[in-house]
Amino acid sequence: MNLEKLAEIKQKALEQHIPIIMDDTLEVVAKILLEKRPNRILEIGTAVGYSAICFSAYLNENGKIDTIERDEGRAREAKENIKKAEVESKINIYAGDAVEILPTLQEKYDVIFIDAAKGKYPFFLKQALRLIQKDGVIIADNVLYKGYVMGDYNKHKQRTAVRNLREYIAEVTNNTNLQTEILEVGDGLAISRCQLACQFGDVPNN
Ligand code: SAH
Ligand code: MG
Repeated sequence: MNLEKLAEIKQKALEQHIPIIMDDTLEVVAKILLEKRPNRILEIGTAVGYSAICFSAYLNENGKIDTIERDEGRAREAKENIKKAEVESKINIYAGDAVEILPTLQEKYDVIFIDAAKGKYPFFLKQALRLIQKDGVIIADNVLYKGYVMGDYNKHKQRTAVRNLREYIAEVTNNTNLQTEILEVGDGLAISRCQLACQFGDVPNN
């Protein structure tokens, strides 16, 4: 990993107002990754590759990351950045909409990081539950969305996103196969650890 290039990639992303993972959020995720030393990570929402590059430092020896980005320009820039950071052997980018790509994936992942369209979080969770290893961790960023999710913001123009984030939180909290913590770090981080019986196709409705 080329740390100098990583710092440049971060700086440029911040200048372009790309919503890359916040430092305090990264710290929490890094702790989980350090503990797990995952073999396979799935990321939904690559942007320009910053978080994926950071996460790649915590993979075990032959570990790999799959990351999905629907914006063509960003996917292209991510590919360049991953090369610059010298981690191209560890990260595979799927350029396309996660709503279409996720159902085609068949492998199991040790860690799944959800960081894309907030209105799709319930769908992403359904797919994550299908794809997660039985002792894996599903992490979702931005679940508190600037405080809108816990506040009384029903008239806010982002109400579809807010409704879906609330649904995500309700599902991970109520699902008896998951042990979930919601942290106020960054823009809100949901950490859901799968219990042994986490292998199923569908999210229970209770
Ligand atoms: N994880 C990145 C930041 C991701 S920002 C980092 O921390 O560095 C969110 C990204 O998700 C945006 O680039 C957006 O284009 C992408 N995105 C949103 N909805 C998506 C979808 N349905 N499928 C794939 N990518 C999506
Ligand atoms: Mg985010």
